[in-house]
Amino acid sequence: VKPEDFGGEKNPLRSSRLARFMQCPWSEAMQHLAMVEDEQAGAAADTGSAMHFAAQLWHTRLKGDARLAVAAMRMALERYPFADLDSAEDQFRRYAADPRNLAAKVVLVEAAVRVEIPPAPGDPTGAPVIVMGTVDQVREEPGGLRALDIKTGGKYEGPDMLDEHCLQLAAYQLGATYLLGREVRAASIIRTKDYLKTDRMKRPKPGPVFWEAPWSLDDCRALMRSVAAAVAEVRRGLFRHAPGGHCRYCPAGGVAQCTKRLP
Ligand code: SF4
Repeated sequence: VKPEDFGGEKNPLRSSRLARFMQCPWSEAMQHLAMVEDEQAGAAADTGSAMHFAAQLWHTRLKGDARLAVAAMRMALERYPFADLDSAEDQFRRYAADPRNLAAKVVLVEAAVRVEIPPAPGDPTGAPVIVMGTVDQVREEPGGLRALDIKTGGKYEGPDMLDEHCLQLAAYQLGATYLLGREVRAASIIRTKDYLKTDRMKRPKPGPVFWEAPWSLDDCRALMRSVAAAVAEVRRGLFRHAPGGHCRYCPAGGVAQCTKRLP
């Protein structure tokens, strides 16, 4: 993969990786240039996949039948071999019993979305930046359409969690807006782990679960312009590496390794 193909049709960005790319462009560029491989598999990721699978079936083919959705989830273990199915079932059953989900008018479920961002000034290719992703849900609400992302885990909560996943959610809003031909002005995270919270005495004390993003659709467009500017640098062969706390999750294995790979 050549630098000029970065973020293009042949080599699009992934919505779920935008935050990492903006934190350290070199980390993401190395993966696009096939210099390192990122392995996302693991118990937490697979538990999330299992919960998503059950929720998808519950909203679509199994139409509100939680018992069947759980059975189908447990039978499909080959899709998420490291999943903690008991935890996934626990979170899903509480999700399925939540009146906010029971009453939801869901218009998209697990839908592939695509965002096309105009190239930034100075981009040598003049080609748009492409972001691909899968939005968990879009719901019709009294105020309009809302994109929702289900999170079963993660190290952040509340506003920090929204900030952490801001670029991902913004891409879903814009991608779903294009797909549906209607503005998806709002976005939220459904943090299913909140259902399992307890107080100091270990009594159930669920958190809010629904966390609403504070930004507008215009903010999403502005954020994507920043992504395009960072992509233009990579396409010019300018690889910025930016160390920080995120280095611990980088497949390059740390600053001492990644600097050696710089062209
Ligand atoms: S180790 Fe840190 S600085 Fe180096 S590429 Fe990875 S995230 Fe960037």
